[in-house]
Amino acid sequence: MERKITSVKTIVGKLIIEEGNPVEINEALFEARRVFNEVLIKLLNGVKVREKEVRSFLLRNTKQRVIAKAKETFKSFNELRKRGQAEKLRIHENKPLPLKMNFREGYNLWSGEDGGIRFRISLAPGKHVKGRLLFSREHEEIVKEALEKELYKITMAELVKRGGEYYLHIVVTKETHLPAVRYAAGIDINEDNVAVTVYDLETKKAVDTFIVDYSIIKFLRHYWFTIRKRIQKHGGKRKKLAFTSRERRQIKHPLHIISKRIAYHLSRYPGIIVFMEELTDIRNGSNKGKRMNRRLHSWSFYKLQQFLKYKLEWMGAPVEFVPPKETSHRCPLCGVSGTRHKKMFKCPNGHIGHADRNASVNILIRGCVVHLHVPRSAFRAMKLPNFRMWRLRRDESGAWGIVNMPLPAGVEPYTAAQRQEAAKLAPAGGSPKLQLGVVHALMIKTASGTSVRGGSGLLASKGNPYLYV
Ligand SMILES: [Zn+2]
Repeated sequence: MERKITSVKTIVGKLIIEEGNPVEINEALFEARRVFNEVLIKLLNGVKVREKEVRSFLLRNTKQRVIAKAKETFKSFNELRKRGQAEKLRIHENKPLPLKMNFREGYNLWSGEDGGIRFRISLAPGKHVKGRLLFSREHEEIVKEALEKELYKITMAELVKRGGEYYLHIVVTKETHLPAVRYAAGIDINEDNVAVTVYDLETKKAVDTFIVDYSIIKFLRHYWFTIRKRIQKHGGKRKKLAFTSRERRQIKHPLHIISKRIAYHLSRYPGIIVFMEELTDIRNGSNKGKRMNRRLHSWSFYKLQQFLKYKLEWMGAPVEFVPPKETSHRCPLCGVSGTRHKKMFKCPNGHIGHADRNASVNILIRGCVVHLHVPRSAFRAMKLPNFRMWRLRRDESGAWGIVNMPLPAGVEPYTAAQRQEAAKLAPAGGSPKLQLGVVHALMIKTASGTSVRGGSGLLASKGNPYLYV
């Protein structure tokens, strides 16, 4: 039987408006908020909402999307309230609401004569904006293929305002035909690292095992936490000591790098299936042990798992989940409980190993047993190779990278020379400042359309294109 998976990717493009008034986009986003609030308040008051009774100048199917979103918000709020996890729903006034639009209804995309991607957004009957979209090189390729090939499908998009600029978040789905399963991998995500082990189902050997250490993220988080605490102590405004949205945004970037690099790394194993620990519905459980509870409350942990799933599936590696259970306290070789001291695990039969690496092996074994029906006994004689350790770090320029982790074939490392070359290509009338560089990525693109192979970065300066990798 032929196997295939459908994966999803969000492509971000910045709007360069050439026709129509940007003010009208703003008005549409505020109108979406108004409709959203109207519906939500009705629902909160127990009033039934009928679509035709909600008046708005928005396109009909765009309005339907806003109503649906309000209903969804109401539903999930109700569920939380039933569980005693929420009391009040915060209603934002005067804040633009991202506008969801259907492809070829609310918005349209096509390839322009110059090879770029052009857009048309209908805000209301008779009102539209047109222009071109700026993407990263990678995202632009995907949109182009999606417009031409059947394997990709452009679905809906969200129109978003950020920092005075407008962006389209376009959702693209991709169908990948999968080869027969040959490799299985277990991924264990921790507070300070991700541990991965790959197993060859044909030769019955563990072929790859590595750890990507990101304790630097924990350090950053701790740093912000301490600062906030200190401000409070000195009579500052009382604020929650949780993550702020700015901190979340800053942490998302390195999490994207880690997940992308791991997905790249695993894509060298054709026919791979990846196992991770199941997290859904665990929040209701009372006590799942200290380790699980701590991780569950860690936002970055959850985010990283999501990123990994999306990126792996996009690269054609299906992800399956296994129930979390004593992952770091069982010996992967003999299956008995052992003791743990910091990162060192020891079992009564004398097997010693890195606790997180062991956890990844346990997840791998559980996945093979549950999803592939491999008998547990098949792993008894397994030999575990030495693991490799790579560290996430940030260099003096603020660039994030993973030290020494091998690159996928055909990609050269990011060097100072390439950086200089990129600076030379800066467009006239504005020098793009390299604010954030991403080590080991693919391209740099400037306003003149020139790209540098082998290097990469995030060129960010007002009015100039920039690039995510
Ligand atoms: Zn053992």
